[in-house]
Formats: sequence, structure tokens, C-alpha cells
Amino acid sequence: ATPLALVASAGEASRSGLLIRNAEAVQTLRDADFALLDKTGTITRGEPKVVEWSAPEEALPYIYALEADSGHPLAAAVTEAVGARPYDYPDEMKETAGEGVAGRWDGDEWFVGRALERSRWKDAPPASTLVEVRKNGEPAGFFAIADRIRDDSRAAVEELKKMGVTPMMATGDGGETARQIAEEAGIDEFRSDVRPEGKLAIVREAQSRGRRVIVCGDGINDAAALKAAEVGIAMGTGMDLAVDSADIVIMKGGLARVVAAIKISNKTSRVIK
Ligand code: ADP
Ligand code: MG
Repeated sequence: ATPLALVASAGEASRSGLLIRNAEAVQTLRDADFALLDKTGTITRGEPKVVEWSAPEEALPYIYALEADSGHPLAAAVTEAVGARPYDYPDEMKETAGEGVAGRWDGDEWFVGRALERSRWKDAPPASTLVEVRKNGEPAGFFAIADRIRDDSRAAVEELKKMGVTPMMATGDGGETARQIAEEAGIDEFRSDVRPEGKLAIVREAQSRGRRVIVCGDGINDAAALKAAEVGIAMGTGMDLAVDSADIVIMKGGLARVVAAIKISNKTSRVIK
């Protein structure tokens, strides 16, 4: 039978904007001492806006075609910047998590995603997320994109530290953007240019040191890490795959809800004892 305390905590959880997909995780949560936090959509709002861009007219329908089909938050910012335009469907198209989207039209390959080298784009503000356009592998344009941190991130990070949970930020984004967001959120340790396998490796490494790990994320690139964690927490605004991989889903709001979940966990286990 389900312990009464767990039933009670499920009610409290839903009032706190949390969806519990795995009841055991609510108990495990109180033992967590390490939290791997995704940047985009978790620490930041996940409402990125293009602040600067440049691309030749010829590229615009291809950029629109590639990004209109992607669920990535950056894709929405890019399509908004270039505006809706008529386009032909590509002969072939492929989206790679943490990388970008590529498509082929009449033998030409167009790509929108991670930049090869940032220094090429002098007009991109230093702390922006950089998205590059390439035609047949040759850089053809860029989008500099900015996202603000959530109002509750900084206070929540401070509370996590007080609760004995060491926060670390990991992002597929570049070093300067990562540094600035980590600093704004009060996070001392961060990793930039992290691929999806890299997030999983950080979880495994922490676990091998005896850490009990919370992962918070919202993207396809977070799915493996969310599954491997003792407790995976997905942002409800994120991609379905992240939500499906998580033990707890934050329906609305940010990291303050993670703190709320830990408090519920502490109470629950006290009652069960
Ligand atoms: P994060 O770990 O911060 O959530 P991601 O791993 O999802 O970031 O993305 C890493 C990088 O890959 C982005 O900064 C961007 O340059 C590029 N990227 C991934 N998907 C897309 C896309 N659909 N459109 C444009 N750029 C993308
Ligand atoms: Mg993300």
C-alpha cells in the first residue's frame, strides 16, 4: 500500500506546481547533495530573443525552413527574426541534439546551429548565444541571441547551497555566455560547450564520487542525464522527451520549485519514520 505520508505529499506537491511521476524520487530527494542544472530554459527563462543578426537574402527561406520545424527555443527566436516566408521542403533534413539542424536542397546543404569559431562574427555581443548559418560547410551568417535569467534562479541557488546541495551549471552554449549566466545566478562551478553525452558523463562522475545527483533540464540534450540522475526534474515548458525522462515535472516556474520539492521531501521522510 502507498504510505499515507506519500499521498499527503503528492497533494502538497501538486499545490506547489509539481507533477510527481515517480513517488520514490520524492523520498530520494532529501539525500541529494549535487545538482546539475541546465542553462537554457532552466536557469534562464527559455524565451531567447535575437539581438543582432546578419545573413544573405538568399539564405533566409532555408533558415526559416530548417528552424520552423525544430522545437528548440533558439529556433523560435530565429524564425521570429527572419519572419515567416515561403519555402520549399528540403530533400533531406536532420536535427542533432546540442548541435543544430541541417537540410539539403538540390545538392546544397544548409545548416543552422553551433558556431565553429566565434571570433569570425565581430558584431555578436560577447555574452550572447551564437547560432551560425553555413552553406556547404562555409559560414554564411549568424544570429546573436540573448535570454534573461529567471527571477527565482539566484535565490534558489543560494537556498540549494544552504541545504547542502552543490549546484553546477552545464550548457551546450559557449564559455562567455555560460560564465555570465553562472555569475548572475550565483553558481560557482560551470561547464560550457557540453554535448548531451557530456551532461551524462558529469552525472556518472559525480555518482562515482558518492554524490547523489539531481538533474534539472528541459531539452532533448538533457534526457540521458535526467534518466541517470537519482532524481531527474524537468521543466514543464520543455520538450516531451525531457518530461518523459524525469521523475518530477515543474509545471510552472523555475528553480524555486526544486527547493520546494526538497522541503516536501524532508517533511515526507520525517512522517514515514
Ligand atoms: P543548452 O545546454 O544550454 O540547453 P543546447 O545543448 O540545447 O543548449 O544547444 C547548444 C547549442 O547548439 C546552442 O547554443 C546552439 O548554438 C546550437 N543549437 C542546437 N539546436 C539548435 C537549433 N535548433 N537552432 C539553432 N541552434 C541550435
Ligand atoms: Mg536547455
